[in-house]
Amino acid sequence: MTTPWGNPHFDEHEAVHFVTDRASGLKAIIALHSTALGPAAGGTRFWHYADEGMALSDVLRLSRGMSYKNAMAGLPLGGGKAVILADKDRSKSDAMIAAFGRAVNRLGGHYVTAEDVGITVEDMILVNRETDHVAGLPVEDGAEVGGDPGPHTARGVYLGLKSAVKRALGREDLSGVHVAIQGAGSVASHLARRLAADGAKLSIADVNVERVEAVAAETGATIVDPAHILFIDADVVSPCALGAILTEDSIANLNTGIIAGAANNQLATPGDGQRLAARGILYAPDYVINAGGIINVSTEYLADGGADLVRQRIDAIPGRLERIWNEAASSGRDPASVADAMAQALIGR
Ligand code: NAD
Repeated sequence: MTTPWGNPHFDEHEAVHFVTDRASGLKAIIALHSTALGPAAGGTRFWHYADEGMALSDVLRLSRGMSYKNAMAGLPLGGGKAVILADKDRSKSDAMIAAFGRAVNRLGGHYVTAEDVGITVEDMILVNRETDHVAGLPVEDGAEVGGDPGPHTARGVYLGLKSAVKRALGREDLSGVHVAIQGAGSVASHLARRLAADGAKLSIADVNVERVEAVAAETGATIVDPAHILFIDADVVSPCALGAILTEDSIANLNTGIIAGAANNQLATPGDGQRLAARGILYAPDYVINAGGIINVSTEYLADGGADLVRQRIDAIPGRLERIWNEAASSGRDPASVADAMAQALIGR
């Protein structure tokens, strides 16, 4: 395993903590990219990695991503991330999760955790027995903020998608605008409902047949083969399933003028942002348009406001995209590079 400093994703992380707990078998890495704007916030991933170097690369890359996302969302939070290195069988125990909670607590609030892939709300309840520095906990019915981030993410994506349609197509409304949605999960289903209510024409795909059929029945969307959804002739393609779907190959085969969706890390490489721009496709940088969920979670953790503040912060997403697109147009750079530069400036890098 290379040292953290030697890792290509290191990017001047403020601190990287390697955690072990012999009794429970816990092995984890907690990465704090930046606390310039506030406590480093980002979820915990429970994953089996082929080797420790891959775990380190993953946590560093994700932690920097959280710095950028939180900064661009205007939140008083820095960026961090944790990974728990699972064994091949992904055996997880309450003792292991509790030991992880104690490790988070030892950081004294410099790192705030939440769920990510492989970590459940129940796990976060266990973590919360050891530390207060947790978000994404269940909320009581009727609570103003917190709870499922999906609907909040979907609202931000919906507003951002509308501003992309206005910019690229000169359309104020979505009536008859054809949107191809990849995925029919939490965010996609909420997004599809909003778009259908506005009269958009929807095509949708998911590898989970039951899910896609349910969303199609509710919204009138046409079901498309998951292998084709990115490439159909549509005004907008909205990736709401997987990362790294925009590659040299896939970009060459797109038949759309706009990419605006929730999936994290849509671009396989930074060069893919330039490829989209070269084809004249308007790209809404993923971590800017999909910030609704973290906005909701952060308002729960920081307790700095209620539903109105969450709404206001999500309402700011289209304006932020406009600034990125304007800067891209005037500088000749692509929107993804412009967003990265803006985020770096905000965190003083
Ligand atoms: P989800 O798990 O509820 O839904 C994802 C869906 O994608 C699933 O139904 C899955 O079957 C489907 N899928 C998987 N592979 C597919 C393929 N090849 N083709 C088509 N569909 C496929 O997840 P979600 O919470 O809706 O999140 C969707 C994306 O948005 C993820 O990339 C996630 O990281 C990102 N995101 C989510 C939130 C949030 O608030 N939930 C916030 C920010 C970013």
